[in-house]
Amino acid sequence: MAPNDLVDAARAVRANAYAPYSVYSVGAAVRGADGVIYSGCNVENVSFGLCMCAERVAIGKMVSAGCRRIREVAVVTRDSGSPCGMCRQTLAEFTDEPERVVIWLVGEDGTERTFTLAELIPATFRAALGQD
Ligand code: ZN
Repeated sequence: MAPNDLVDAARAVRANAYAPYSVYSVGAAVRGADGVIYSGCNVENVSFGLCMCAERVAIGKMVSAGCRRIREVAVVTRDSGSPCGMCRQTLAEFTDEPERVVIWLVGEDGTERTFTLAELIPATFRAALGQD
């Protein structure tokens, strides 16, 4: 069962989604290692490549507040949709324990699907920068 405070935050921010093109509103809430919930909605643009997913907006708020580790994530959509590949990689950037980070996917009707981040993005890209 997804934590109510996290799902409530995701559901509340979803109401602010700017999704005139996809008509697919998304609300995401990330609980940081500091215990704070950071939420975000999708923000679309007529130039589609500029669209920002709810998960990455929430992560941006978390990092901007000075927190760099995630504990768990809730995403609310109409159909308990799962994060796109770009968001999975972005989430992976902010944990060293993807097998312990739970992603709660919640639909409008209360349907829940649960994954660990390790399940959503196995064999995560990690680079040893500056080594070549
Ligand atoms: Zn995404």
